[in-house]
Amino acid sequence: MDPIVVCPKCKIEKPLTNLLTAQSNQNVIFECEHCHFIKRNITTKKG
Ligand SMILES: [Zn+2]
Repeated sequence: MDPIVVCPKCKIEKPLTNLLTAQSNQNVIFECEHCHFIKRNITTKKG
């Protein structure tokens, strides 16, 4: 089961795994494929 993320701009719901780009487990980028909204460093679990 993939977690669901809601785009803060267009409110579309998408599976988190399809939208996130994880870079070295630090910089996680949310990119909405619908409105192309990009949000960096979204809240995720941190070690
Ligand atoms: Zn969006």
